[in-house]
Amino acid sequence: MLCLTCKTHYYGLACSDCTARKSQAAFMELQRRLVPLAIRSGALWRVARKKRSDPYHVELLQENTHAFCGAPLEAPMMRTVIDLTKATKATLCPACVKVLEGLMPTEDELPDTLPEPEGIEAR
Ligand SMILES: [Zn+2]
Ligand SMILES: [Zn+2]
Repeated sequence: MLCLTCKTHYYGLACSDCTARKSQAAFMELQRRLVPLAIRSGALWRVARKKRSDPYHVELLQENTHAFCGAPLEAPMMRTVIDLTKATKATLCPACVKVLEGLMPTEDELPDTLPEPEGIEAR
């Protein structure tokens, strides 16, 4: 089949390129909502890297297969949790930091009261 959106040929029920793009976009939309909550609640962030010498990618909230920069986080990776507000930028993937900075709330955008964080685990 020829995908009417991206004009590539695909097999099966739907264009896998477009499906991946749509799900990526949906997850980023979700991050826009979750990042301010996570910052406000002081939750620890999951990070992952392949080698000890690599900087850490920051795992998407509620989606542990991709980082904020779009890098796939496939096992086996070294994973840990950090307090992002105290982490030094040098230890983090610069592309992840750039995306996260775009999602960080300014002081007035921070919610005054924290709604029950659905699904955000207190770690
Ligand atoms: Zn397509
Ligand atoms: Zn990254």
